[in-house]
Amino acid sequence: MILRTIFFLLLSSVVALHSAVPAFAAPSYEQVRSRFRQLKSSDPKVQRLKQWEEVGSDLAAVIESNRGKQDSAKAMYLAGQLYGKMYYARSSRSALSRAVFYYEQIAKEHGDSSLADDALLHLGDLRRAGYKDEPGARSAYFEVLDVYPQGDMVAKAKRRLGISGGEEAVARVRAAPASPKPRPVAKPADTSASGKEIVKKQVRVDRPLIVIDPGHGGDDLGAVGYDGYLEKDVVLNIAMILDELLRERLRARTVITRVRDVPLPLEERTKIANDNKADLFISIHANASPGKRARGTETYYLDNTNDKSSLKLAERENKSAGRKLSDIQFILSDLIQNFKLEDSITLAHHIQSALVQRLSRYYSDIRDLGVKKAPFYVLVGAHMPCVLVEVSFMDHPVEGRRLIERRYQRLVAEALYRGIRDFFERTT
Ligand SMILES: [Zn+2]
Repeated sequence: MILRTIFFLLLSSVVALHSAVPAFAAPSYEQVRSRFRQLKSSDPKVQRLKQWEEVGSDLAAVIESNRGKQDSAKAMYLAGQLYGKMYYARSSRSALSRAVFYYEQIAKEHGDSSLADDALLHLGDLRRAGYKDEPGARSAYFEVLDVYPQGDMVAKAKRRLGISGGEEAVARVRAAPASPKPRPVAKPADTSASGKEIVKKQVRVDRPLIVIDPGHGGDDLGAVGYDGYLEKDVVLNIAMILDELLRERLRARTVITRVRDVPLPLEERTKIANDNKADLFISIHANASPGKRARGTETYYLDNTNDKSSLKLAERENKSAGRKLSDIQFILSDLIQNFKLEDSITLAHHIQSALVQRLSRYYSDIRDLGVKKAPFYVLVGAHMPCVLVEVSFMDHPVEGRRLIERRYQRLVAEALYRGIRDFFERTT
């Protein structure tokens, strides 16, 4: 317990350090809003896309510089509108993820804002139209009725729910199941299994909440790869695709720690997972090696370790936490006991084997670096199974070139999705 207190003290000094870094001057909410209004009449088609993206960036800056204030809620709402419009006009999946992200943020962080019920209504619409997530849509509409019964969105939410009438009608619809879609239960045959058939109990988590953490961001570039491409951008792309797959195929609820190129302190990332009471936390990274020679895929779970190369990697990934490895190892020895270590190891194995299997179907030279343990700061203090994946090497001449391709990013995301699915559908 004492050690834990020390941990949080250290943590707050790191946070203070981060906020002391001067930020560039963000535009005001009014400025961005007027730009958005001008754009709104135009189509977010290819020729104007850059301008839409710029307004999105400016909104992110307004949100960041007004945390907790009303302008932040208003900017989030506008960002929801902007990306929602981009989604409907261009069927852009990443715009869909972003719109959903911002509306969810309003409901969570600005529940007392007059925009909260409007945000929930849009959230329901996007879950229904974009993700075909009927239970998710219903829960957003019901939240409008339950939390904002005096608000001006009640009639609309009722209409979306197919409710005509008073409280009795509401109760009737609430009790009716939301057109249940059977979740896939059967696990594809595991070819690596030894052939022994053992009847086991299945571990089921209904609509798990998964936190996806694209590593690095902002001035923390991560590994610099082939042709100057950056880890922070590659892993963000993979995270956005994974988000979509988890929502659509696993019917999971997801939270992405960052949806844009912004810096995010490591401890904030686990805090997001803990605050959301996540069922799973996955941090996505891409590797680099001193001689640019190393290649392969590896998955880490948190542990105290003496393995030298693991320590080196951990040192690099931990760098933006601004602290030395020895501190972490010291703190870890206490924390690790409360940690779901076994689940994390299982998860790491599911993810690693999905990655290697999936990628090997398309590439003959995939190297399996295996499951390893390391004291990653980003994983310290997380209260759920969590892993850190190094999908491939950014600076390897072959892998680096692959990593920047959309096709490869999609393959990786697909594999991560399978690993996570297998973890939730595993037997014990
Ligand atoms: Zn990284």
